[in-house]
Amino acid sequence: MSDIKHCRLLILGSGPAGYTAAVYAARANLNPVLITGIQQGGQLTTTTDVDNWPGDADGVQGPELMDRMQRHAERFGTEIVFDHINTVAVQQPPFRLSGDSAEYSCDALIIATGATAKYLGLDSEEQFKGRGVSACATCDGFFYRNQEVAVIGGGNTAVEEALYLSNICSKVYLVHRRDQLRAERILQDRLFRHPKVEVIWDSVLDEVLGETNPPSVTGIRLRNLKSGAVTERVVEGVFVAIGHDPATQLFRGKLKIDDEGYIVTRPDSTATDIPGVFAAGDVKDKVYRQAVTAAGMGCMAALEAERYLAALEPAAEQEHLAVASE
Ligand code: FAD
Ligand code: NAP
Repeated sequence: MSDIKHCRLLILGSGPAGYTAAVYAARANLNPVLITGIQQGGQLTTTTDVDNWPGDADGVQGPELMDRMQRHAERFGTEIVFDHINTVAVQQPPFRLSGDSAEYSCDALIIATGATAKYLGLDSEEQFKGRGVSACATCDGFFYRNQEVAVIGGGNTAVEEALYLSNICSKVYLVHRRDQLRAERILQDRLFRHPKVEVIWDSVLDEVLGETNPPSVTGIRLRNLKSGAVTERVVEGVFVAIGHDPATQLFRGKLKIDDEGYIVTRPDSTATDIPGVFAAGDVKDKVYRQAVTAAGMGCMAALEAERYLAALEPAAEQEHLAVASE
């Protein structure tokens, strides 16, 4: 591992943000290198039907969409490297990254390492993941049109998911482990007013109930933490909304990161607090968390990186001339 692979622009992550950044950067002749990480294709490779990707009117399977994005990035000359990065040095350019298989350096870096939804860790939750258990109402809510569903959690995400689902589903249970929601007051008021929503307080999900062949959810078993009472509800979908973990471990203490671990960028920009380092997609976005928004931010990051690199060029040329005249 003694050789360092240098490139002008390195993109970290192969989800919609990373691949979109690669398409734009490659078309701008930046010859980007994209490091895929262990989850090549990102979160969408863990799902089946994606029904809200614009242009795919009949829907598309997550892995197929990500395969197409990879081919699109490669078509314009992106070099795709299967590696996982373990350490980074981003104090000043060239930025250095150390992976399982190689060392890298770059003049500009786009971080698109995404995030993962937190789950409760139940066996039954795992068994029905993608088959009745989801962590994204915007993505999967439509599959439960006119059906009964449950949302687990009491934060802003859980309340927003419950309100979103209440427009689609016939009944929404919001199950929260305490007797007070963490969500903002204005959201709580909307939730409490909604005739289709029933809040189940002081309760945790003990088990997702369902059929195995074909796998489908038929209900939930709940335990009241105060009384110990165990009850069941009939639902066809369970939405776990207990928070997300952005993949920013590598950058802690090196870039500005907020209290919840998301990379902070300038308003209306993907620029981080280090010039030349940009962040796009779920790694910096706790609000939308969608493929199309991640892709949009990937585009922004590539355009901003291109401008940053172009502005460096006269300085680099001067440096080159000075060395040549020595
Ligand atoms: P991700 O897709 O999370 O990709 C992150 C990338 O970073 C991965 O390739 C990973 O390997 C890489 N990486 C991480 N750490 C490292 C490292 N140390 N070194 C190198 N690489 C690294 N959105 C929709 O719009 N519609 C849907 O229908 C939909 N369905 C979903 C279903 C499921 C089950 C899930 C989990 C999510 C769904 N989403 C959906 C949300 C969508 O997948 C995300 O918003 C989107 O993938 C975010 O893209 P991203 O590029 O920011 O990151
Ligand atoms: P969050 O605020 O951390 O809330 C997580 C919720 O899940 C809490 O109610 C928590 O219960 C519950 N929970 C956590 N672990 C659990 C477990 N193991 N079992 C049962 N319940 C569990 O997460 P979030 O709602 O995803 O929000 C994250 C951040 O994004 C917040 O800052 C939020 O304000 C922000 N956000 C903002 C908006 C908006 O402004 N519109 C929308 C979405 C998110 P306790 O309350 O008991 O801890």
